[in-house]
Amino acid sequence: MSESKSLFSSDFAPGALSPDRPKLLVVDDQPVNIQVLYQVFSESCDVFMATSGKQALEVCRQKNPDLILLDVVMPDMDGIEVCKALKSAPETRDIPVIFVTSQDSPEEETLGLEVGAVDFITKPVNPAVVKARVKTHLMLKIQTDALRELASVDGLTGIPNRRRFDERLQTEWRACRRTELPLSLIMIDVDHFKKYNDHYGHLEGDACLKMVAHALRGDQWRARDIASRYGGEEFVCLMPETSLEDALTKAEAIRERVFALAVPHATSQNADRVTISVGVACTIPGEGEPDSLLSVADEQLYKAKEGGRNRVEGIFV
Ligand SMILES: [Mg+2]
Repeated sequence: MSESKSLFSSDFAPGALSPDRPKLLVVDDQPVNIQVLYQVFSESCDVFMATSGKQALEVCRQKNPDLILLDVVMPDMDGIEVCKALKSAPETRDIPVIFVTSQDSPEEETLGLEVGAVDFITKPVNPAVVKARVKTHLMLKIQTDALRELASVDGLTGIPNRRRFDERLQTEWRACRRTELPLSLIMIDVDHFKKYNDHYGHLEGDACLKMVAHALRGDQWRARDIASRYGGEEFVCLMPETSLEDALTKAEAIRERVFALAVPHATSQNADRVTISVGVACTIPGEGEPDSLLSVADEQLYKAKEGGRNRVEGIFV
């Protein structure tokens, strides 16, 4: 937390900053008000600006700010509406919102807090006060993010867990639906894993899962891809903006990589070593539910198992 403190100290020196400067979004229909806040924060934060509610939502999607200073009274979409929209979308729900308003009424403050704001600041802003409040909420945000990060990692393998995967599936489903680009999902199951556990014991079983996770992790992934442990001996990968063909290539590479590990499996019925079966599903998201993609991948995985295991099956739906 010492880093965040230095961001707001009076003896601020450029270049002493960590590369991860907090990202602040300032929303106000009056550019002069934005200017005031920009001067307060431009040295310590990356400041983005929006002069309408609609623009604010757009900037949020693109920049994923750490905190928003939001004007209440704006034409068209006011601050309350903006805040409601932010809180209803999973990808922006956790961004703290501080309302900045010239009206100092308890009713308005209550309404603001009810729609999910964390704090209220009155105009004209006092630089010291607004700095202190923003600092407090940024620190909370950093702590919350760290906890969330911890809660989203699988304890055994160190890769993202199912909870993280499910969140990302929701987010990427929406994103690919917006852009009308394909979303691919790869589901992996270790062949005859129960037999492996029975024969070698649970400690070896755990070691085996770690090796598979390591093989997954070692592959080349793009920033928005995610490879996670879905549960037991099941792993699942999500590849946004990826065609079925490319996902199949990826799945085949993973299968080969695990095969190349050559982990002995004396009781496997299909090979002398640990192998995986893989089901791939690809779609351009539409009306349906994200979970439907999981079901389709699961069906393909079943097909791979039926077809003799240690193989990849896939379909575009
Ligand atoms: Mg205004």
